[in-house]
Amino acid sequence: MIEKILEFSKKLILIKSTNENKKALDDALRFSLSELKEYPKIIFESKGVKSVLIFNKKGNFKKFKIILNGHLDVIPGKENQYKPVIKGNKLYGVGSADMKASVSCLIFAFKEVAKKVNYPLALQLVTDEEVGGFNGTKYQIEKGIRSDFVIVGESTNFNIENKAKGILWLKIFTKGKTGHSARPWMGENAILKMNTFLQKLKEKYPWPKKEKWVTTLNISSIKTNNEAFNKIPDYCEVWCDIRYIPEEKNQILKNLKKLLPKGFILKTLVNESPFYVNERNPYVKLLVKLIKRETKKGGKLIGGHGSSDARHFTRVSCPAVEFGPIYGGIGSDNEWVDIPSLEKYFQILKNFLFSLH
Ligand SMILES: [Zn+2]
Repeated sequence: MIEKILEFSKKLILIKSTNENKKALDDALRFSLSELKEYPKIIFESKGVKSVLIFNKKGNFKKFKIILNGHLDVIPGKENQYKPVIKGNKLYGVGSADMKASVSCLIFAFKEVAKKVNYPLALQLVTDEEVGGFNGTKYQIEKGIRSDFVIVGESTNFNIENKAKGILWLKIFTKGKTGHSARPWMGENAILKMNTFLQKLKEKYPWPKKEKWVTTLNISSIKTNNEAFNKIPDYCEVWCDIRYIPEEKNQILKNLKKLLPKGFILKTLVNESPFYVNERNPYVKLLVKLIKRETKKGGKLIGGHGSSDARHFTRVSCPAVEFGPIYGGIGSDNEWVDIPSLEKYFQILKNFLFSLH
């Protein structure tokens, strides 16, 4: 089976399916579907973005026991990195780890079990995860697709990501009073006012020196309208990117507003929910057990610092976790996925799907 998975992964990597390359995204979808001809499917399209849902039973139903979810779009890489290369146990190439090799495993695992299990099982392939998943996974959910449990095949080194941080993008403004730099007492410097506030923010959300499951805050930009040396700036704006833990979901904005001095304005541009799936969820427990049987170190429940399409499901109360093979270098010049781990990943998925009734 590993040869098939590997060949399929390599062909997918050759397709430059970045989000601006609509033709390549369609090609990646078409190529994936070429393996899945005998199954019923629905093709979705929202704002020019295509996605597909392939399932094992005929009929017009929307509720599944399990959905396997994968994305075919990639973070852009350099031209030569779209050529798959095998060195030792590693398969290199753009999207090898994120997540074309995983998608190949999902496809072959689906094919292996689809006709042998008696519950509704689906495979969901989307093409816009890297740009938020709004017209793929989220759109399908808006059309009524639901599942008792979802496995999103992002690479996780055989761990289960059952929680991920939320994203908050804010702009914060303040005003001062302009005047001549030679007479500071006549004016009020907006940058200095903002600076005092930023110090308070830093105390509340200290910059972690190493990986930690805490809410973090990055000041991404600071702006003023002033262009002259001898003028007191009367306007200052900062941009913040906050990654908050699910435990703080309900307080994060309240806490920030409490810190905000009088006259400061806070504008929320993006607020993407965090997600959390209980460790006692029976599907999670089963998956942990099966992973531990096949791997030495896998099966830990971990928190994700980034985001994935899993959050779209958990928002409508469908438990969704990320689970995938051993990998490294996502977004770098040396993205890779471990080849022996693909075979194991396929095996664990198969065992999991066959254990359910
Ligand atoms: Zn991904």
